[in-house]
Amino acid sequence: MSDDRLRPVPQPGILDIAPYVPGKSGAPGSKSIKLSSNESPLGASPKAIEAFRSVADHLEIYPEGSSKILREALAEVHGLDAARIVCGNGSDDLLHLIAQCYLGDGDEALMNQYGFSVYPIITRAAGASIVLVDETDYTADVDALLAAVTDKTKIIWLANPNNPTGTYLSDAEVRRLHAGLRPDILLVIDSAYAEYVTAADYTVGSDLVAEAENVVMVRTFSKMGLAAARIGWMVGPPHVVDAINRIRGPFNVNLPAQLAGAAATRDVEFTARLKEFNAEWRDWITTELTSNHIYVVPSQANFVLVLFPDAEHAALAFETLMERGLIVREVGKSYGIPHGLRISIGSEQAMRGVVGILKALVQIS
Ligand SMILES: *Cc1c(COP(=O)(O)O)cnc(C)c1O
Repeated sequence: MSDDRLRPVPQPGILDIAPYVPGKSGAPGSKSIKLSSNESPLGASPKAIEAFRSVADHLEIYPEGSSKILREALAEVHGLDAARIVCGNGSDDLLHLIAQCYLGDGDEALMNQYGFSVYPIITRAAGASIVLVDETDYTADVDALLAAVTDKTKIIWLANPNNPTGTYLSDAEVRRLHAGLRPDILLVIDSAYAEYVTAADYTVGSDLVAEAENVVMVRTFSKMGLAAARIGWMVGPPHVVDAINRIRGPFNVNLPAQLAGAAATRDVEFTARLKEFNAEWRDWITTELTSNHIYVVPSQANFVLVLFPDAEHAALAFETLMERGLIVREVGKSYGIPHGLRISIGSEQAMRGVVGILKALVQIS
């Protein structure tokens, strides 16, 4: 009897997948400040918290399965058709479902070299291969992506802005990418950080979704204060929405999350405040840290990628920040940027702490 008759064996390739590495957290009860997962430093919208609490007494009832309340709020605030929206248990849920629907054995998905580390996992989990495409200046390169397309290509995963680099493609560049793709290739625009973008030539992707049959936009509430609630959503052409709805979990978004998401969506003042706060401190930390020794990649997100002269400097900076209770994200193993650290935009105190420590380190090294 061969070995694989002795116990259940996962599908080919599953055990070759390296698990996702989340940002580190402090020990429970520690006073460490977490700048490793791009969470909101201003918490969640108070209206979302209130909505979440409002159903605590009726946890015995199944939620409405299509997240109608949430889809209607999203449609209203973002000017979309609620029938073209699908909600998920975080956007990871939806990204997995997209991979499962459109990728299979022998297919290829493309992503830029320093793209989001979930894409290789979900691509391989669907039996397909992931192709990493070179970037230019830590930014997705449209020409290189188009040149990498083969007969086997089925999906392009594009986080815009990208995590962990914070760089973005303009509306014109995304359109140029789309225009160069065969109509049977799905362009997945992951706009996880859309709330934070200030660049005037950026668009979130929903216009292109409305015009094309092969584009979807995926969004999340995680970076705007609701990471714990696990809420994501996507908008796509009807045929994609139909396919995703056939395989998603029938109650994939829990009721407290649906209500919190709807309230957060309508609390546009809170979202605006987060954006303003973030832009102020993103600018500040970028200016403060940029020096002969440190390069801060220009970011449109709620974090910055900070590049040191080499991996040793990055490791020393990581350890020193950690000792002082500031937890940032290493991007060596999971992203192939060993000389970098990704630092979320946090409170004023956290930002001043990071800058003070890194400036002092640069002087002694
Ligand atoms: C954080 C993030 C997500 C996922 O978020 P969820 O918490 O699963 O909604 C998706 N894409 C990118 C690029 C991210 O950085």
